[in-house]
Amino acid sequence: MNEYILKVLNEVKEKNACEAQFIQAVDEVLGSIEPVIKKHGEDYKRAGLLERMVEPERIITFRVPWVDDGGLVRVNRGFRVQFNGSIGPYKGGLRFHPTVNQSIMKFLAFEQVFKNALTGFPIGGGKGGSDFDPKGKSDNEIMRFCQSFMTELQKHIGQDIDVPAGDIGVGAREIGYLFGQYRRIKNDYEGGVLTGKGLEYGGSLVRKEATGYGLIYFMQEMLGANGLSLQGKTVTISGSGNVAIYACQKAQAAGAKVVAMSDSNGCIYDENGIRLDVVKEIKEVKRGRIKEYLNSVPAAVYLENNSGTPAVYTIKSEIVLPCATENDIDLETAKLLVQNGLIALGEGANMPTTKEAFEYFLENNILFAPGKAANAGGVAVSALEMSQNSMRYFWTFEEVDKKLEEIMANIFTQVKNAVDEYALGTNYLAGANIAAFRKVANAMIAQGVI
Ligand code: NDP
Repeated sequence: MNEYILKVLNEVKEKNACEAQFIQAVDEVLGSIEPVIKKHGEDYKRAGLLERMVEPERIITFRVPWVDDGGLVRVNRGFRVQFNGSIGPYKGGLRFHPTVNQSIMKFLAFEQVFKNALTGFPIGGGKGGSDFDPKGKSDNEIMRFCQSFMTELQKHIGQDIDVPAGDIGVGAREIGYLFGQYRRIKNDYEGGVLTGKGLEYGGSLVRKEATGYGLIYFMQEMLGANGLSLQGKTVTISGSGNVAIYACQKAQAAGAKVVAMSDSNGCIYDENGIRLDVVKEIKEVKRGRIKEYLNSVPAAVYLENNSGTPAVYTIKSEIVLPCATENDIDLETAKLLVQNGLIALGEGANMPTTKEAFEYFLENNILFAPGKAANAGGVAVSALEMSQNSMRYFWTFEEVDKKLEEIMANIFTQVKNAVDEYALGTNYLAGANIAAFRKVANAMIAQGVI
C-alpha cells in the first residue's frame, strides 16, 4: 500500500481504536484510491488532505431524556456527526436503533460524504441518530422521544446548515414529529430543514420509494453494461423495511422473481414470488414481524436466524440485495452465496459486505454494486425535495422518478469511467470511491486549509 495512505490509515486506527466500523469504512475508501494518490500524492500530502478527510468537522453528542407511558424517565444518547461540508450543507439520515454508537455514526457519515458527492448535488455529508429502540414503543412514546431529540438537535441544523432525513427506525412518522418540534421551537416554517417529510407538508413524491428504486436502476445499468438483465432472475432481499420493500417492487416490475425477504429474526421464502402487498401490510401498517407473512400465504416457509449466516442468505439466488444493516455478509456467507449461483449483488444497505467478502466476490467475478453508489437514490431524491421546497413547487411522481433514473444512470457512468480510466475491470467499489474521492478532494483543496 502507498506510504501516505498507510500512514493516515495507521493514525486512524490508533486514534479511533474503539471504532471498528469507522476504521472499516476508512480502510475501504483509502484502500481503493491508490491509483489517484499515485498521481497526486505529493500535492495531497502537502495539503494534509487525507488527514483532514478522515476527521469529522464536528461531532455533537447529547442527552435525550423522555418520559415513557408508565411515567418513568428514560435517557438515551443522541448524535449528529457533521463530517464534511465542503460540497454543501451536511446531509444524511437519522438512525434510531439500540446498536447506535459513535463508531456507527462516524462510519455512516463518512460514507455519506462520498455518496453525496456522486449524486452531483451540492450537499455535504453527515449522519445522526440515537441508541433509542423504537420497537415496542407506543406512538406517544415515539412522539415524546422525537420531541426531546429535536429540542437539542435544532441548535445545530438548518436548511443551509445541516439537513437530516430518515434511516433505520426513522420513517415518515418520526420525521413528522421531528419537523413539528423544530417548527414549534423556531417559529419559522423552514421546510427544507428535514427531508422525507409527508406529502401534505413539503415532502417529495418518490422519496419513500427512492432508495429501493434507485438501487434497481443502478443494478439495471450495471447488469446492462455486462450484457445481463434482471428479467427472469431469482432475487433474495435482506430486510423488509423502507429500502427492501421498494427494491422488491422495482425488481418485480423489471421481471425478476423475488423469493425471499427478512427481518432481524428470520426470513420468509416464497417460491412463487413474494407478495409485496402482504409484506407492506405487515411492515408499513401493522409494524409486525416478517413471519406473519405465513398467516396470509401459508404455502411460504419461515426460516429463523441462528448464529452465523442469516437465513435469507442460505436461499439459492442469482441476485442478492442486502437492504438491512452493516456487516451482514461475511466471508463464510459470501462463499455460500457464490456456491449457490450468485451472479450479482447490490448493496441497498450501507456497508453490508465485509472487506473479505467483497474481495471474495471480486475474485469470483461476481458483479458488485457498492452501497455508496447503488443506494444514493434516497439522498438524491432528498436533494430534489430540498429543491422543490426552495422553489415552493412540486414535481409529479413521473417527473421525480425520471430524474431519479437519470441520476442513477449518471452515477453508474461516473463509476464506469473511473474503472475504465484506471483499468480496474469490474471493480465498481474502487470506481465509486475514486470518482467520489476526486470530487471531495478538489472541493477541499479549492477552499484552502479548513
Ligand atoms: P428500516 O428501519 O425501514 O428497515 C430496516 C430493516 O433492516 C428491517 O427489516 C430490520 O429488521 C432490518 N434490520 C435492521 N437492523 C438489523 C440487524 N442488526 N440485523 C438484521 N436485520 C436488521 O430501514 P431502511 O430500510 O431505511 O434502511 C436499511 C438500510 O439501508 C440501512 O443500512 C440504511 O443505512 C440504508 N439506507 C437507507 C436509506 C433510506 O433512504 N432509508 C438510504 C440509503 C441507505 P427489524 O425490523 O427486525 O429490525
